[in-house]
Parts: sequence; C-alpha cells; structure tokens
Amino acid sequence: MTGSSLTLAEARAFHADATVTDLHADTAKLMDKVGFDIAARHPRPMPDQVNYVGHVDLPRLKDGGVAAQFFGFWTVPYPERGCRRAVETQLDALDRAMVANPDKLVWALTPADIALAKAAGKIAALGGIEGGQALESDVGSVERFARRGVRYIGLLHFSANALGSPAKGRGADASQGLTPFGRDVVREMNRCGVIVDLAHINRKGFFEALALSTQAPMVTHTGVLGVHDHWRNIDDEQLRAVADKGGCVGIIFARRFLGGASIDAVVDHLLHIVNVAGEDVPALGSDFDGFVVPPTGLEDVAALPNLTVALSRRGVSPRVLRKILGDNPMRVLGAVEPTAWKAARPRA
Ligand SMILES: [Zn+2]
Repeated sequence: MTGSSLTLAEARAFHADATVTDLHADTAKLMDKVGFDIAARHPRPMPDQVNYVGHVDLPRLKDGGVAAQFFGFWTVPYPERGCRRAVETQLDALDRAMVANPDKLVWALTPADIALAKAAGKIAALGGIEGGQALESDVGSVERFARRGVRYIGLLHFSANALGSPAKGRGADASQGLTPFGRDVVREMNRCGVIVDLAHINRKGFFEALALSTQAPMVTHTGVLGVHDHWRNIDDEQLRAVADKGGCVGIIFARRFLGGASIDAVVDHLLHIVNVAGEDVPALGSDFDGFVVPPTGLEDVAALPNLTVALSRRGVSPRVLRKILGDNPMRVLGAVEPTAWKAARPRA
C-alpha cells in the first residue's frame, strides 16, 4: 500500500465522497430504554474519561461523515421470553426517530438505499440483532424480523442460547457447535436474505455456521488475535475463512479488545486483516454505545475522520481506505439480497 497521508480536512472531504459505514452501535437501546434523543447533539466525551455510552447522535454522525450506521438490537437473555419484544421496542424507537426526523434519518437495506440517503443528505439506518435468543426458539422469527428490515443476526451474544455457544459468558462450552435449531436458523437466514453475523460465537460454531451458510457473512464487531490476545478476538484462520466466503470483518473501538488506548491500535487490527485476509475484508464495527471505552482520538462517531488520517499515515492508499470505510460492507450488503423484505413489498 502506498499513498501520501491525508490532513484532517482532506479526510473529511474523503468521507463526503466515500460511503462511510459502521457495522455496530447500540444506540437504539438507549433510545428505547432511557429516551435518548438521537436527533439532539450531545456533548463529546472527553479524552481519557471513562465513557461507555453517548457516542452517537445524528449531528455527530454528520460530523463524522458517516453514510450508513448499523444499529445493533441486544437483549438480556434471562428469561429468553421477552427477547423478541425487546428487539421490537428498539426497532420501534428507531422508527419514531425516523418519523420525527424524516429529513435526517432513513431506513435502508441495500447499497442503493444508502446511496439515495447519502444523496439526500440523510443518515442511512440499518438494523441488526445481537444474539439469537431474540428468536425465542422459533425459526419463524427470522422472517418476521427480516420483514421489518433487519439485515443481520448475530447468532450468539454473551450467553449460551438455543442456537449454540458464545466465545465466553454464561453457559460457554468450546466443544459445543451449532445446535440443530442453530443450523435451521442459518438456513432460514439464507432463505430470507439476512446476513449471518459471527461476532461473539465460539470458534467451533463459527466454522460450522460459515460452512453451512451459502451467503457472505459479517463479523460485525471484533478484534483480531494476531494483534492482541483476548478471548473476544478472532484468529487468522477465521479471518481467511471469512475472506473465502466473501465476507467482511468490522474492527471494534474497545480498548480492552484492541489491547491499546491509541487510535493506532485500531489501525493495527485493520492492517492485520489486510495482511492476513486481504483488502476486501476489513471494515469498521465501533460498538459505540455498547459499554466500550474507545481509544483516544476516537471518543465518538464525530471523530471518525481521525481514523482515516491515522490509516493514511500508515500508508493505506485512498483505494483501500474506501474499501475499509464502506465499500467492503457495501459488497456484502449487495451480495445478500433482502428477499423476505422484498417479498413483503411486492410493489416496491
Ligand atoms: Zn457485542
């Protein structure tokens, strides 16, 4: 990779032209549970202050030059009953925000939707579920959520569920792969055009889901073991397997998984993916508002151009920058057609 480094102003101009996409932020839970107003500008968390939430709102998404923001809908899995509803109330909260701010925020499923939103000066909102407990052991839930526009489902979160076992957390078992129900869910996701998200799943389930799925996967928010040894991170074999399936991997902005507090820790993880699995795999998966402490210089979504500057300083060319910032997830979104969503809207 070659390229001269960008100034901050040049990085902002680059974002205006690129399709900057973040694969995971938990903001919808705050909107649902504490009435967080995504349309209002909230103060930027101070550098090195502990700030677990409050990283994302519409004015700061604009400042960050973001085109598309995936919102992750997470649930507390004990009891499992109620998880489906908990996802629906987060979807409802986003819907209300879109109704209240029709000129600023719009639901999107495809690269074409995102391009239209960007051209209209709106933030494209996409939805993903974190943890298959939201299905409440009913494979029909996949289609139900797909029809509401959910684009990905993360099979596991922090606890064992009816689908399989997490990398760590309650009920974690490294020898447990996908359950028969978990296999049914992956097949149903393929049928409905819902992307399989392999963040949080254990290694055995990861490879089983990859082998079973006929479609390109995402690992929406993770670090890589090749840079920092942590249970939440994935190894080089996993990265290559995602590459072989045409998928992408979003790097998380959480110090504990990155193994560093500087913005260059994020660059290290992204470049490791490029080196091991190729330039078509890395993406951004901040996990903003997900109880993460982001690195210095990436305190909130408005600071994203700093990451573009840091990447360019490390020799990442504009061509590869464009892929990392958004073209890689756009490729996966384009490859996995939202068939159940489209079938529910025959005239669209
Ligand atoms: Zn997560």
